[in-house]
Amino acid sequence: MRVSVPTIPQINSLAALLPRISHAEAVDRIATFVAPGNVALLTGAGVSVDSGVKAYRGKDGRYMNPNYKPIFYHELVDESPRGHAFRQRYWLRSYVGYPPVRNTKPNTTHFAVAALQHTSIVTNLITQNVDGLHHKAIRHVWDEALMRERILELHGTLFHVHCKHRHAFDRDTFQEWLSQANPEWKAYMDDLERRGQKPKTNPDGDVALEGVSYDDYVVPDCPRCLEEGVRNNTIKPDVVFFGESIGAEVKDRSFEIIEQSDRLFLMGTTLATYSAFRLLKHALELKKPVMYLNVGPTRADGIPGVEKIEIPSGQVMRDVVEAVAGTRATYDPVLRDMLLSGVVDPPTDEGYGDDVIEEAATDRSA
Ligand SMILES: [Zn+2]
Repeated sequence: MRVSVPTIPQINSLAALLPRISHAEAVDRIATFVAPGNVALLTGAGVSVDSGVKAYRGKDGRYMNPNYKPIFYHELVDESPRGHAFRQRYWLRSYVGYPPVRNTKPNTTHFAVAALQHTSIVTNLITQNVDGLHHKAIRHVWDEALMRERILELHGTLFHVHCKHRHAFDRDTFQEWLSQANPEWKAYMDDLERRGQKPKTNPDGDVALEGVSYDDYVVPDCPRCLEEGVRNNTIKPDVVFFGESIGAEVKDRSFEIIEQSDRLFLMGTTLATYSAFRLLKHALELKKPVMYLNVGPTRADGIPGVEKIEIPSGQVMRDVVEAVAGTRATYDPVLRDMLLSGVVDPPTDEGYGDDVIEEAATDRSA
């Protein structure tokens, strides 16, 4: 596990930090905390680690490339030739990096969370992750409307894109347009797939490509703008970049969720991002009970009123669900399935056998 948030001390030895609490005690305390229900759950990058997703975020949670160079919102939507070149680079890398992100699978924590949502223990989920894995874990039970109502993606999602004029498209559709506009890159991707290779990637869907010219890459114009007689290819994913603020609607909804819930449960986050940290502050101001499940230092350490438990969520959350659900875990087929589902495939530092795509750390082309 790599924790790479600059403001938080690095964890060099996980073993030195664990365990401070026995498995049984952790399960018991968490189950006791969530059992009364109407829980707001706030998750971060830590819950996606077992799915093989690495955390690549800056200290305020904005998107950066693997070298920790920020990607600025204003560059991505700049309509000058410079902005166009920036988008060629961004979208080529994202084009290559997207398929593995799309294929990432929810892990045991995501399914345990889905079980708590399914049993109405967790009434609202706020996630800082843009990987869509919470949705994937509950998609076969909840429809789109219910997911929209009960899951708030604080920093957006990689699965939608929009142009500068707010015309929205889904990411798979946009991937298809990129393929059509760049047949030679489509052939490259098909070849990678045939050889069973994956590009090295991070949650942005961004990859590091060496010795590649971006000049010929075609970023398609927004078709809705074209209908209105405007050529415009300022298309970006629905995730929050540097220099971009969280939409008022999302911000207001996040506060509302805290207010409407009886308790706040934090999981797999250092709270390095202020948009998440202020939700903890809000809950404490309202005197809501707060439990914090995370391994390693966090921004909330030492704050009174926060009950912290240091044990990996993947080790305890299934057992928490069983403790809370009682006999329902045996007769509810949906719940039973959720308790048996989930990958455990944390990232390695070895990469994916990337003979074509170099280690992200060697990228000097930015
Ligand atoms: Zn448009």
